[in-house]
Amino acid sequence: MRDTSMALKGISALLLDMDGVLYSGDRTIDGAADAVERFRSEGKKLLFITNNSASTREKYARKLARMGIRTSVRSIITSGYATAVYLKEHSPGARIHVVGGKGLKFELRRAGLTLVSGEEVETATHVVAGLDQKIKYDKIADGLRALLAGAEFVATNLDPTYPSEKGLLPGAGAIVGALRGCSGREPDVVIGKPSPHIINMAMSFLRTNPGETAIIGDRIDTDIEAGRRAGLRTILVLSGACTEEDLRRAKNAGASPDFVFESITEVTG
Ligand SMILES: [Mg+2]
Repeated sequence: MRDTSMALKGISALLLDMDGVLYSGDRTIDGAADAVERFRSEGKKLLFITNNSASTREKYARKLARMGIRTSVRSIITSGYATAVYLKEHSPGARIHVVGGKGLKFELRRAGLTLVSGEEVETATHVVAGLDQKIKYDKIADGLRALLAGAEFVATNLDPTYPSEKGLLPGAGAIVGALRGCSGREPDVVIGKPSPHIINMAMSFLRTNPGETAIIGDRIDTDIEAGRRAGLRTILVLSGACTEEDLRRAKNAGASPDFVFESITEVTG
């Protein structure tokens, strides 16, 4: 790890993971709003990123506003939104079957993409899988039908779990895993972190390049890994999911973050 006072030297754009960095569930992390304002006053371009696809960007903007963090919908990227942008760009005529939550369907529809379900699932060109807190056997069965009929398999992300007040809950990885288990297929594309797709999209929105961009996140396997793959400066905060053991393991694997701080309030430079 380098001298922490240098963490933001030469950086003009910041990609901020949200859960574990700005808040933990519904609890704001102390000083997070002030830190965001400080970055702004230093002239840094900001983009807020989450792997969660279950909620819309509007919902995140409202959540951040409640926590005193000023933002706009345009500066938020969820993996659901990123998936919609990706498909719109690569397969504008796609017929999509969604095994995922309302927020994901909303983002895909808003991008002008066509969703298919019921009797039409076998005509789907893509199956998009994301976190679905109302998953049922029939939904997995429809996803399987579309995959067996040859649809491309797109995952919003592969997060095994996410934190909640009740402890860890199954994430999008559990939904992708159910489809993988019955179809024998791996996702053809993964959009969310650690895949660089969502990071590259964020950089193109901000018109920035890897050399002047940093990612601040609380998970080594997603945030830091995504940043590393995309060539960004990586900043880990210990206010979220990362344990000392995770950090030790990353160090041993030669995948240490560039900088480590207790929380976002300490990230300066
Ligand atoms: Mg996080």
